[in-house]
Amino acid sequence: MSRCKGYAASEAKALLGPFSFERREPMEHDIVIDIKYCGICHSDIHQARNEWSDYQEECIFPMVPGHEIAGVVSAVGSKVTKYKVGDKAGVGCFVDSCRTCPECRQGLEQYCSVATIWTYNARDKQGAPTYGGYADRIVVDENYVLRMPENLPLEACAPLLCAGITCYSPLKHWNAGPGKKVAIVGMGGLGHMGVKLAHALGAEVTVLSQSLSKQADGKRFGANYYYATSDPETFTKLAGQFDLIINTVSATVDWNQYLDLLKPDGTMVLVGLPEKDIPVGAFSLTARRRSLAGSQIGGIHEIQEMLDFCGKHKVACEIEKIPIQKVNEAYERVLKSDVRYRFVIDMASL
Ligand code: NAP
Ligand code: ZN
Ligand code: ZN
Repeated sequence: MSRCKGYAASEAKALLGPFSFERREPMEHDIVIDIKYCGICHSDIHQARNEWSDYQEECIFPMVPGHEIAGVVSAVGSKVTKYKVGDKAGVGCFVDSCRTCPECRQGLEQYCSVATIWTYNARDKQGAPTYGGYADRIVVDENYVLRMPENLPLEACAPLLCAGITCYSPLKHWNAGPGKKVAIVGMGGLGHMGVKLAHALGAEVTVLSQSLSKQADGKRFGANYYYATSDPETFTKLAGQFDLIINTVSATVDWNQYLDLLKPDGTMVLVGLPEKDIPVGAFSLTARRRSLAGSQIGGIHEIQEMLDFCGKHKVACEIEKIPIQKVNEAYERVLKSDVRYRFVIDMASL
């Protein structure tokens, strides 16, 4: 065991504060990563505040959140072949899975039918709690580690490991590309990457945000059109327009209104995870053979594909770097949609 420093929530809704804890010694296939940067995902807030209690098991406290982890390899186990000391490396939302179920065999480890082992708020195969990236280092099996783009700043790539892949995976799965009209609902951490990635894939992109206050940024990220959902006319004007809607909203909103914006056979994919159920009317779907779907991050192979795509197309996140001492303040600002567009913790401050 080796001692690590980090920031943790001691119980649900507690402010995060300094915390010291143990990580395992590297096993044969493990990599030790010195964490340089970790993004703040809205899911960190949902979990540190135990907001998904209707849907998942009891949260594990103390909780060290963080699953947008970027750093440098500082040690490797005796049988590691994929990484060497000094490589830039990343860790996303999960650190292991069963490796043998049909989903794992297809590279869909995020949907492992036995147990995806989440980066934090979970238990590893030895039964020890997992601790996330608001910390000085992490130990992860080489098969669950990602290679970061060499040509882009490491801090701006950290959020690709959750925000990036969570948008890339459904965009690819539902064939976003030339000739397709894609809407991104909510332009926060996920949404701003949805805009950049959909644009890089060649789709026509529309942002549906609560107001027009971020319009200039949206256009700069590649949006062709930008509308405010606070204006009721938006929903009449855009009715029946889109092939694909990626809904990143973290709060309870009326999904039926957005379903009406789909073309026949169009799909709205939920990636945002509000804490309560939202009713959907059958007519919203039957009227034009529309689909309502969901998507969760992406598998290891697809995350690597996305990172390589971002390197090639020079796509990175817009970030505000903060010292770890400001994490509680950052959480409050995320909740007020006052973030441009992802907070990234500079771990040198720890
Ligand atoms: P975020 O940065 O807070 O962005 C969410 C955006 O939703 C806000 O920027 C805002 O966009 C919009 N929004 C917030 N409250 C709203 C309201 N009351 N009405 C309408 N729009 C509202 O959060 P994030 O990190 O992108 O995460 C978004 C959601 O996705 C969270 O629920 C998170 O847990 C979930 N998530 C899911 C996955 C997955 O695998 N499915 C992965 C990561 C995160 P505007 O200001 O533009 O309106
Ligand atoms: Zn996340
Ligand atoms: Zn599995």
